[in-house]
Amino acid sequence: MKVSWATEQGSAERGNEDFVAAAPGAVVVLDGCGLPLGTDLGCVHGTAWYARSLGTRLLARMLDGLGPQAGPPVGPPEGAHRPGRRPLVARLAGAIADVAASHRESCDLRAPTTPAATVLALRVRGEWVDYLVLADSTLLLDGRRGVEAVTGGPAYAAADPAMAEAAITGTVPVGELDRATLLTDGATRLVDMFGVTDWDGLAKLAADPGPAELIERNREIERTDPRAARWPRNKVHDDATAAVCAF
Ligand SMILES: [Zn+2]
Repeated sequence: MKVSWATEQGSAERGNEDFVAAAPGAVVVLDGCGLPLGTDLGCVHGTAWYARSLGTRLLARMLDGLGPQAGPPVGPPEGAHRPGRRPLVARLAGAIADVAASHRESCDLRAPTTPAATVLALRVRGEWVDYLVLADSTLLLDGRRGVEAVTGGPAYAAADPAMAEAAITGTVPVGELDRATLLTDGATRLVDMFGVTDWDGLAKLAADPGPAELIERNREIERTDPRAARWPRNKVHDDATAAVCAF
């Protein structure tokens, strides 16, 4: 799997609260939930730290058991074909618990404003691809049946590992996929806000000319509406991240 990605902050004053990381065979994309500047999060670390911490821990846990040290070839798919066994959910739950433990002493994790994030995760496991989608980020699966968009529900990852159960997960044969594209909501405005293309067009744009150009197309349209009048939105520019996996 070849991964290419781009990420860009929406505004200079709050920094980039999206996070993306990849390793051989695995990629994660998170979108930290940006509350208004000055909101008491009950956390001295902040939203960007949370997204980064959860992303790196999740990536590490996703890689456990993969690779040449993993032993004999992997067996049948564990995800969509076997309800109740959702390996990436367990890994996300573990990563949420890890992050919570790392700042429970210094921060109030019961605060309703405690940092939270959307999560996209994808990994290759032998002949299979496992994916996970939590909250309003989008995964585009591009294969022999065309482009399928997978978007999560209302629940985010915050301080409670049980929130991982709300994720949408699945497993597909790697041979049926040409590409997968992971997108935060700042990078899907061309489709779900401006309506200038569809998921199929966005997947093509992510593949060629690529993730950075996809984000720039969003920015070009945003700049034509600097007061958010034509397209009402809380942030004129949102943090935007796109990662493309080619199989
Ligand atoms: Zn904290």
